[in-house]
Amino acid sequence: MAEKIVFATNNAHKLQELRQIAGPALTILSLNDIDCHDDIPEDADTLQGNAIAKALWVSSKYGYRCFADDTGLEVDALDGAPGVHSARFAPGDGHDSQANMRLLLEKMQNVPTADRTARFRTVIALIDPKDPDSVECFEGIVEGHITTEAHGDSGFGYDPVFRPTGWDKTFGEASPQEKNAISHRARATAKLMKRLLNR
Ligand code: IMP
Repeated sequence: MAEKIVFATNNAHKLQELRQIAGPALTILSLNDIDCHDDIPEDADTLQGNAIAKALWVSSKYGYRCFADDTGLEVDALDGAPGVHSARFAPGDGHDSQANMRLLLEKMQNVPTADRTARFRTVIALIDPKDPDSVECFEGIVEGHITTEAHGDSGFGYDPVFRPTGWDKTFGEASPQEKNAISHRARATAKLMKRLLNR
């Protein structure tokens, strides 16, 4: 029987992506699937800290092997901001992508092209409840530039203002396949799957 493992999320897009990659070898459960409706704290000051805290919460309370992710956009001209605060960069309840992008472009309006370097970073933490000290982290990074205005409306979050290095378009103008071929999340996920499937 396939091993059951929890992905500490209810994000349908992320779950579908992971289930597709894992295939029949793993049964990937969501937080809803295990009846976890907790408000899991995400207040660490690093991506790794948040990913570990989420995975540890689920594995210790629900007894499943679990992995959790956290992602941030790091802009060099802003000393790495918004980073771990990417979802809640603009004031408000958070997750307002338009407001977050507007604030980012505003803060960057006097930054010359050469200094508009940035990267998306994803950290995934994996924890086994039998050995909570055995936490393992997997990182994925994609380097790029912040554009001067938004382009495209595919993807989500900061995709329309992020142009990966070597590309002539933003993630917002890319198909899901094009983005998934190089994205931070895909790179971290590939490392996690290699570990889980012993490839
Ligand atoms: P999360 O950790 O995956 O929830 O990501 C935190 C925040 O980072 C999101 O709310 C988005 O603003 C941003 N973000 C994460 N992944 C991406 C991406 O692939 N493209 C654009 N923005 C992203």
